[in-house]
Amino acid sequence: MIPAAFQYERVDSVEAAIAALQADDGAKLLAGGHSLLPQMKLRFAMPTKLVDIGRLRDLSYVREEGDGAAIGALTRYHDLEASDALRQLCPIVSSVAGRVGDPQVRHMGTIGGSVAHADPAGDMPSVLLALGATFVATGSGGTREIAAADMFPGLFQSALANDEVLTEIRVPAAASGWSYQKFTRRAQDWALVGVAAVRMNGSANVSLTNMGLTPLRAAGVEEALAGGADPATAAERADEGSAPPSDSFGSEEYRRALSKVLVRRALEEALA
Ligand code: FAD
Repeated sequence: MIPAAFQYERVDSVEAAIAALQADDGAKLLAGGHSLLPQMKLRFAMPTKLVDIGRLRDLSYVREEGDGAAIGALTRYHDLEASDALRQLCPIVSSVAGRVGDPQVRHMGTIGGSVAHADPAGDMPSVLLALGATFVATGSGGTREIAAADMFPGLFQSALANDEVLTEIRVPAAASGWSYQKFTRRAQDWALVGVAAVRMNGSANVSLTNMGLTPLRAAGVEEALAGGADPATAAERADEGSAPPSDSFGSEEYRRALSKVLVRRALEEALA
């Protein structure tokens, strides 16, 4: 598979990236390339120019900030997995980073690329949704914050404007109870269904991976928990409001049934 012709520019600052995006409507940012390049090879994406931000090292960090962690958008999965600070503050992020794809993907793929790509089957968007993360976008007018609930408006769509760079992701400290259940047919596969559960404010936030056009909060489950339901009872509402795909890996019915099992397991682990 050969991508359509494109121009290439490596930039050395966020400002230069924004200027390059503004100069060419068809330009796209390139971070780790592990979602964009496969799309280009299939000609699902045909950017006129790649603006390479992959070497902006000052956007690769994890640091304690406020009551949680600030993560640079260019931080690679491998570095998330290896971060002691993240393991202390928000272990679900480091743990799930270590379960994305294979070592090559984890050494190249970035958390910001995963968020901007907004794949409903992506693990990190779902985890960040459960955590209620805040996303920091930088454009020509400065920076703005985007709440997790607003970040994924549609299939492969993020709330970022075409000329904005996602620069930072902020997550709350959440070390007291969490679980990510990723059901795969084979080791290193994408999630057939995934469930993130994070204990928060005496209850749990729950989100679903690959159960619709976007990562989803399991609103029925959260409502049941808030009303005092036990994990098994709350899990029965796992697929409420979802629209799981049917494909050669599993039917819609199978995914609905699977989501209930995984939500129960996730809640039992997170709330134990
Ligand atoms: P890129 O491919 O460089 O970019 C992706 C998109 O985001 C592009 O549209 C780009 O313009 C935009 N973008 C990138 N960075 C920014 C930014 N800072 N601001 C604004 N826009 C930006 N993912 C999973 O979740 N689970 C898996 O199990 C999994 N398995 C995989 C297996 C394989 C073999 C491969 C190739 C990929 C797999 N992935 C998986 C996807 C992987 O997580 C991607 O690396 C990640 O989704 C994209 O990150 P990236 O840095 O490579 O982004």
